[in-house]
Amino acid sequence: MNFELDKELVFLKEMVRDLAQEKIAPRAAEIDEKDEFPWDIKEALAEHEILAMPFPEEYGGTGGKALPVVIAVEEIAKVSASVAMIPGGQCLGSAAIVIAGTEEQKQRFLPGLASGEKLCAYALTEPNAGSDVGGIQSTAVLDGDEYVINGTKRFISFGNIADILTVFAKTIDQNTGQKKLSCFAVEKGEGLVVRNLEHKMGVKGTPTAELFFDNMRVPKENLLGAEGDGFKIAMQVLDKTRSEVAAQALGLAQGALDFAVQYARDRVQFGSPIGKFQAIQMKLADMEIKTQAARYLTYVAADKYDRKVHDRGKYTAIAKAFASDAAMEVTSEAIQILGGYGYSKEYPLERMFRDAKIQQIYEGTNEIQRIVIARSLLGRGF
Ligand SMILES: Cc1cc2nc3c(=O)[nH]c(=O)nc-3n(C[C@H](O)[C@H](O)[C@H](O)COP(=O)(O)OP(=O)(O)OC[C@H]3O[C@@H](n4cnc5c(N)ncnc54)[C@H](O)[C@@H]3O)c2cc1C
Repeated sequence: MNFELDKELVFLKEMVRDLAQEKIAPRAAEIDEKDEFPWDIKEALAEHEILAMPFPEEYGGTGGKALPVVIAVEEIAKVSASVAMIPGGQCLGSAAIVIAGTEEQKQRFLPGLASGEKLCAYALTEPNAGSDVGGIQSTAVLDGDEYVINGTKRFISFGNIADILTVFAKTIDQNTGQKKLSCFAVEKGEGLVVRNLEHKMGVKGTPTAELFFDNMRVPKENLLGAEGDGFKIAMQVLDKTRSEVAAQALGLAQGALDFAVQYARDRVQFGSPIGKFQAIQMKLADMEIKTQAARYLTYVAADKYDRKVHDRGKYTAIAKAFASDAAMEVTSEAIQILGGYGYSKEYPLERMFRDAKIQQIYEGTNEIQRIVIARSLLGRGF
């Protein structure tokens, strides 16, 4: 067993770290303050092929493996969780096509996403169906060569700026009349109204949208997988992308810890640096323990996903739950180490603390992650 990254991954980590330090770190506070999507940084991510990472080479990508994406997302999240959500969102929005698309669908949709020319979003959540995916009320009714989609999606990251949406809606089984969840690749057009949901606590600059489908007609060739495959596809997507949420959380924890260590060296009280006080040392040690553990769980989860280990979904759930809980604790303790300065917007820690909270909520709350983990222990029927 080898826990060291290979040369290519080390090179990738350094390349993304340099980009993050040079281009993203100087903009992080401003993106948070203005709450505007950073189009110039999206371009830089495309130029550095970071947006191409979730895609196989035959569709213009750089491989489609989870571990490199996790490493890139971690490095970016050290300085800006909002920017880290851009490659994360591109992976989340496209994963249903990568996992369940036909060759024709992949050729049609993926190259534009891999180049970064187009953006995509994952539209699962509804006003009455968050954790309870089975409760989705949107419908897709086949009419001739098209599906007619009706319903509302809420909290869709990048939903207003995405060109392609992977949308989950219920189709009606022709034989039994039963409603089953299905998944569609939807290009924006007539019948879709988008409303921005701003005023979030954190991850500012990553627009969150509400989508209203009003008799939107989608070619039947845009069905991903078969009718009724929607639940399976939704879960397969999350089994993959939860390791990226873990990586955002890990990056936040590492960024906050690095800042707190430097501050503990510099800040003098009672005639000595606060890092000499054992109370501060214990905090830093606990923060390091949690961050290191989060890193191993996150890398292992992504590696197991890439190796298609059968219970990989359990490992991405473990990584997501642990790393996001760790990020909440580490960012909170980092603020404590800075005292009043940590609470001030002059320093990045209050932003990191706000950005850490969402990691415990989206792509399945941490309560849902624990249900996934417990069910994998107990077996079917629980
Ligand atoms: C900024 C942001 C971005 C988002 N981006 C996207 C996106 O791109 N695409 C998308 O589809 N969705 C997105 N979401 C939605 C997100 O995934 C949901 O908010 C999340 O899954 C929880 O759903 P909910 O908000 O409806 O909460 P609910 O499901 O109503 O849960 C409320 C509380 O009850 C708990 N709970 C629910 N059921 C159980 C249970 N069985 N056992 C124990 N506890 C339970 C939950 O853990 C939570 O604490 C985003 C949300 C936000 C805030």
